[in-house]
Amino acid sequence: MRSFAIDDRNTITEKQAMVMTLDICVSYAWIRKVFMCKQTEINELIDSGDLTGAIKLIIGLYRLPNQFIKRVGYSAKSLPITATAAMQLETPVGSTRPIAGTLLFTASKPDVTSIPRYRLLHVITHELAHARMNLDDHKLRHSEFATDVLALLVSGNAQDFSDQMNDVFMEYGYIRPDLYRTVFATLHRHAENIYL
Ligand SMILES: [Zn+2]
Repeated sequence: MRSFAIDDRNTITEKQAMVMTLDICVSYAWIRKVFMCKQTEINELIDSGDLTGAIKLIIGLYRLPNQFIKRVGYSAKSLPITATAAMQLETPVGSTRPIAGTLLFTASKPDVTSIPRYRLLHVITHELAHARMNLDDHKLRHSEFATDVLALLVSGNAQDFSDQMNDVFMEYGYIRPDLYRTVFATLHRHAENIYL
């Protein structure tokens, strides 16, 4: 199910962490910008319990093709119990680019709705990052580390993350604690630059 990306967290060096984070900033700072413009709206949708509306809005910000995400599923029995969510991509034989995707959550919709907002944003932006990077045939698309960096970049969780990052990354992340400093410093420096 997640065969299009590998858990590479244990092999990343500090230098690679810096280079990969910069690469993600250069490729995807535009998503950060459009997300920032809609941050208040996204927060309000999540806080009011309109998960479907929030996901739809974020899908739009990633500029995935119309109808690319065909379905958002809850209580997915096919996921490992330890997974919070997954992106299933449909890729035609002989192609590297997916034509459709399904976003699945392990928990029921009410349980997903009760996940703290910053964590829910991380999960949604991580799974949609898989879709975006695979559509782009991005060179880091197979890296869970890079996918998590893109989620941090887009969600802005890197901005004020210090209180929360242990919770998020200890349990869910693909970024090793010894690389936090490098990843966050690089994101802070480059997340909102304009790349031409
Ligand atoms: Zn992933």
